[in-house]
Amino acid sequence: MHSLDDPIISLNGLGPKAQEKLNSIGIYNLEHLLFHLPNRYQNKTHFTSLDQAQVGGEILVELSIDRIEEVATRQRQLLCYLSDENNRTLLLRFFHFNQYQKQQLIRGELIQCFGELKIGRDGLEIHHPEYRLISKGQPTLIEKTLSPIYPLTAGIHQPQIKKWVNIAVETLQQTDLFDYFENLAKNSMPTLKQALYTLHHPKIDDNIDQIANFRHISQQRLIIEELCAQQLSLLKLKNERKQKISNIFKISQKFSNQLSSNLGFDLTTAQQRSVNEINADLGSSHPMLRLLQGDVGSGKTIVAVFACLQAVENGFQSAVMAPTEILAHQHFHGFNDYLQPLGIRTALLTGSQNAAERQAQLALVDSGEAQVIIGTHALFQKAVNFNKLGLVIIDEQHKFGVHQRLSLAQKAHNTPHQLVMTATPIPRSLTMSAYADLDSSIIDELPPGRSPVQTIALANNKKDKVLDKIKQVCAEGNQVYWVCTLIEESEVLRAESATNTHQYLQENLPELSVVLIHGKMNKEEKSDIMAQFSDGKIHILVATTVIEVGVNVPNASLMVIENSERLGLAQLHQLRGRVGRGFDASICILMYQPPLSNNAIERLDILRQTNDGFKIANKDLELRGPGEILGTQQTGIADMKIANIVRDGYLLKQVNYYAEQLLQNNEKNQQALINRWITHDKTQYANT
Ligand code: ADP
Ligand code: MG
Repeated sequence: MHSLDDPIISLNGLGPKAQEKLNSIGIYNLEHLLFHLPNRYQNKTHFTSLDQAQVGGEILVELSIDRIEEVATRQRQLLCYLSDENNRTLLLRFFHFNQYQKQQLIRGELIQCFGELKIGRDGLEIHHPEYRLISKGQPTLIEKTLSPIYPLTAGIHQPQIKKWVNIAVETLQQTDLFDYFENLAKNSMPTLKQALYTLHHPKIDDNIDQIANFRHISQQRLIIEELCAQQLSLLKLKNERKQKISNIFKISQKFSNQLSSNLGFDLTTAQQRSVNEINADLGSSHPMLRLLQGDVGSGKTIVAVFACLQAVENGFQSAVMAPTEILAHQHFHGFNDYLQPLGIRTALLTGSQNAAERQAQLALVDSGEAQVIIGTHALFQKAVNFNKLGLVIIDEQHKFGVHQRLSLAQKAHNTPHQLVMTATPIPRSLTMSAYADLDSSIIDELPPGRSPVQTIALANNKKDKVLDKIKQVCAEGNQVYWVCTLIEESEVLRAESATNTHQYLQENLPELSVVLIHGKMNKEEKSDIMAQFSDGKIHILVATTVIEVGVNVPNASLMVIENSERLGLAQLHQLRGRVGRGFDASICILMYQPPLSNNAIERLDILRQTNDGFKIANKDLELRGPGEILGTQQTGIADMKIANIVRDGYLLKQVNYYAEQLLQNNEKNQQALINRWITHDKTQYANT
């Protein structure tokens, strides 16, 4: 008799090799097998009659064999024609088979088969069905319950994992499984034991459609529990942070008022609200960890500048980290425009600086002369000694890993206040689950006077039209981005192809100044070109996606994106956000290579329909799942045991409720629940 703590190696037929493979997906003991939940089910509980069968679905049928045929098309095939008593027919098609198998299939015999029903030239077909020859006395395929299908890992087969999980389920029946959740959910949901049992062995009278759609109460119970464990682990981190002591900034309006009167525009209501929320954090004794979300162009940067002012007034340095050299330079100039008139000194730290430049900047940082320090990854390198770092700001946070952010935060003597900014909005369901450990401010309006970017999709062979548009835009005194996005993995090939486009545009638009920028250029060259473009000295900037994030040149009003069908929604939206920053009506042309996949059509359509980053983010989540949106951010969200943020978003309200309840529960239960569901050691956002 097994117990749930037994290591998996104690199972019959499970050797060291399989053990290693299962360990790699977090399965060490029988309890882990119990929580290895099916990701779908097969229904072999009844035969389907051919006139009721749906193409695309999986069916089990029992029919008789009419005729066998071996055909030699490009590839040899074995065809087995079946029919029912009403002469409805089904064709079994085998692309791999042996002669023994062929000989077994005999006219007139009864055969059961299971597989996905397809429609071919001559009617219904199943390819490579699972089958049994009933006349030969083989056991029936009919099963009493739905058949769970388990996620696999390379080298482990479905029948094996099924067998091992079943032993765990049998063991469960003889065991008490501590149910941390039950007192919360009692009476309203099945117990953990019932729920697990149902999911591994659904009964025929369980609502099969609900199970197939992961809407059965037993599934909901476990989904809620898993999401709860996930959230609880984040909320615990948040609580721990709120226990820590940081520097209290005494909030002052001196610099803020000065900056406001220099700005030439008023903050939007949403920007002002974010500034207030940040100030409230900075003024408390606990370290701030706040996510500032806002659509492209919503004006996150200026909010960050206001935060720096508070640090300066309290005698602390601020570090502002950007993911690219171009963006760091741009911020450096932008921040200087705001800060210099107030007499505040800045420094710049990037990887491309020569030794002398670097030494000079490091000295400013070290002495404390520089009050706001802007840079790239170079900011957290060893040689950098901050004099008194009190505020860390991360721009475009999805481009950084947790460890990079922490490396910077660790440069402070005391836990610093941290503000992390997104590139585009994050869907609410994802914020609630992946960033539950952060406080959040949302800039949900754009500065006034922006007209939405008109978005057009054009096939690649319509380049002439694009050239006409470019001429028109430049004649009106505006500028153009032409973005080359390529399949090529290497930056060298990418640069090469951008070079070709550059040449093409120069040849076809000789009266305009066309300049190329790509990742292979040295950093000075790049920032020089960006400065010229910014000053209006370049008409058309041909770029690889190096310009993707953050670049701000309001006079650019036309964006052409090549091969747009290859990019994700968030990236396209982010690129498009480079135009529509000034008062001129802007256009984004999405060039594509036909034919488009359905998914690509959907993506380009949503971009044409809306400029609303919040809507686009939701669609992106739906189309690509959470992994892509979270970027280098490591969380357990992308590989949960049963929950799926996109499918199960509707449960998040309940999850929140239970997570808050559990937070009042005893510490040991909380940890046990977390350990049960979060087997991998996944670094959460605030983890220090
Ligand atoms: P993002 O949120 O994408 O980082 P930025 O901070 O780069 O956006 O701001 C985009 C542009 O909008 C900048 O040129 C900035 O000066 C301008 N801007 C920001 N806030 C306002 C405002 N309240 N009114 C007018 N223009 C603003
Ligand atoms: Mg920005």
